[in-house]
Amino acid sequence: MDISIKELFTRENFSKNDLIRLLQVEGEERTLLFQKSAEIKEKYIGNKVWFRGLIEFSNICGKDCLYCGIRKGNKNLVRYNLTDDEILAAAKFANENRYGSIALQSGELESPAVADRIENLLHKIKELSYGKLGITLSVGEQKPEVYLRWFDAGAHRYLLRVESTNKELYGKIHPKNEKHDFQRRLDCLKSLQYIGYQTGTGVMIGLPFQTLEDLAGDLLFMKNFDIDMCGMGPYIEHADTPLIQHADKLLPLNERFDLTLKMIAIIRIMMKDINIVAATALQAIDPIGREKAIKIGANIIMPNITPGRYRDSYRLYDNKPCTDDSAEDCQSCLEARVSLADAEVIYGEWGDSKHYDERRKGLTVQRRNGKKK
Ligand code: SAH
Repeated sequence: MDISIKELFTRENFSKNDLIRLLQVEGEERTLLFQKSAEIKEKYIGNKVWFRGLIEFSNICGKDCLYCGIRKGNKNLVRYNLTDDEILAAAKFANENRYGSIALQSGELESPAVADRIENLLHKIKELSYGKLGITLSVGEQKPEVYLRWFDAGAHRYLLRVESTNKELYGKIHPKNEKHDFQRRLDCLKSLQYIGYQTGTGVMIGLPFQTLEDLAGDLLFMKNFDIDMCGMGPYIEHADTPLIQHADKLLPLNERFDLTLKMIAIIRIMMKDINIVAATALQAIDPIGREKAIKIGANIIMPNITPGRYRDSYRLYDNKPCTDDSAEDCQSCLEARVSLADAEVIYGEWGDSKHYDERRKGLTVQRRNGKKK
């Protein structure tokens, strides 16, 4: 605990203990941490924010994650599935408003019909935007061949949160069966990266049973895995989920919020050129939560462009914000918010992670060198 935080910042790589130390900073040291991460963002990314228009196209889910409001077992929820036309209309809205990219997200279903449907939608979205819209998918665990088909159809980023990299903790927040297998989640991430997606992952912060050591392990995992994008948010309890029974073990919301900001700042320092999302869940705790995340390192926001009448049903956690806004409301609100954070929304660009470009270059070199041997 003796080393000064400034000295710590001169290290090339942080140990687990360094990370635990950073997660505990308070007062002046906390300010120094956030200054450092903001400085790095400014240097490597600039004070910029890119949009990913988020289409939560279905809340039907085959899984039963113990924390999640759209889990299969939750009967207190109207299930919906947007029509293809509704999804395409939302993509068109994003394109016309010069959002560089969209993100398609839903519950997790694996079937040939789902694979075909998404493949077909990807082709249509590429067609309607003349190839201009970047597309992120976030539709859970799938077979490698399905990931490959979707990549070939035009998806180029994939978001699959690992939720926790401590296998034991993962086991406590998921049912114990083959549908919720930690190793499969890791294998999916590996195949996404291998296929060539910009690969994003992240964890929930402030879960019951979670320790600072777990979070430090999560940060090291993301660094070692060499992710391109990171999406982390506070865990927020949901009354209709089994995990609510451990609500007495949770940190207060403001502490979960603060820990999330620290996690974002630290990953920005560790992985300077990746894309980091300012998660919507931050705003469920603090009305200007996402702006705070942008100030200290995040550079991506996902404005919700799901048609308004469905938004209330995509309730992952209690108090999910903005469920009664329209897509237009969301855009003007977010634009004002981003400028409050002294940043600028960049329209009409994909805003790919620079890390990905560098990583690909490295891979090409490695492969070339490999061949010579
Ligand atoms: N099922 C899809 C995406 C939908 S859920 C997938 O696997 O990628 C999107 C994310 O919401 C999850 O990865 C999880 O990290 C987050 N989430 C779910 N329940 C939550 C809760 N109670 N509090 C905070 N985040 C939650």
